[in-house]
Amino acid sequence: MATATKLHVLDCGAMSCDLTWLLLKPGRSIRPRAQKDKPVEWYPCTTHAVVVETPGGRMLWDTSCPRDWETRWEPTGLQEFFPYDQVSENEYLDARLSQLGIGAGDLDYVVLSHLHFDHAGNVRTFAGAGPRLVVNDKEKEWAFGYEGAFNGAHLKADYEGIEFETVSGDVEFLPGVSFIEAPGHTPGTMAMKVDLPETGAMIFTSDAVYMGDAYGPPATPAAIVNDLSAWYASVEKIRRLAEQSDATVVFGHDAEQLRSLRRAPDGYYA
Ligand SMILES: [Zn+2]
Repeated sequence: MATATKLHVLDCGAMSCDLTWLLLKPGRSIRPRAQKDKPVEWYPCTTHAVVVETPGGRMLWDTSCPRDWETRWEPTGLQEFFPYDQVSENEYLDARLSQLGIGAGDLDYVVLSHLHFDHAGNVRTFAGAGPRLVVNDKEKEWAFGYEGAFNGAHLKADYEGIEFETVSGDVEFLPGVSFIEAPGHTPGTMAMKVDLPETGAMIFTSDAVYMGDAYGPPATPAAIVNDLSAWYASVEKIRRLAEQSDATVVFGHDAEQLRSLRRAPDGYYA
């Protein structure tokens, strides 16, 4: 079996948000009557990107949030609900890539799990700079198809005018790197499976599963789901694949898990 050679997890800090957005869980985010006056928990909604080195090229998976989030997200109003305010200078995506000695021209591909503003927030910095930009075909169709400047956390200012290549279905994209269609969160959300020689399989769920507490079984949904029955089916699809491949499953916004991983620039997976 073909494998990738090296994988770097880029910890890009965190947004802050009401946990209820991420986890509709009675007793954790949703309060019982005995706790009805207890404030809701605000959670560090961590954001990460991944660099994968393969014999077929080097790719970046997701681009995190932009430095100008507060003004760029202003039309959506969501900057008040998901402020990207737990981030230090060395955690922004551009800083993380610099720490690895990687400039835009050193990447062959930039692949987006979906086009929400906390995943596509920096994709424009790679447009025309060398890498091919890739997204799922159903995500592209949806993200370019609605009327107006934004829809939820899809914000055309992030990606309008950019030429994306598309992938469709479940595909092996590079040696040891496969994309798995996992719709529900958005119409074209993808997860990524990476096979490594020593580590074995890793599955990056992106927003198909926000956090370990949501994964179950049984799975617990979130407040932002485009299609709930598709979402449940995608979680079970990921679970089957993870079990078959004995994979480490890395969730999209799980602070505790992210901080337990080997992270760039100090650590990597091989
Ligand atoms: Zn999302």
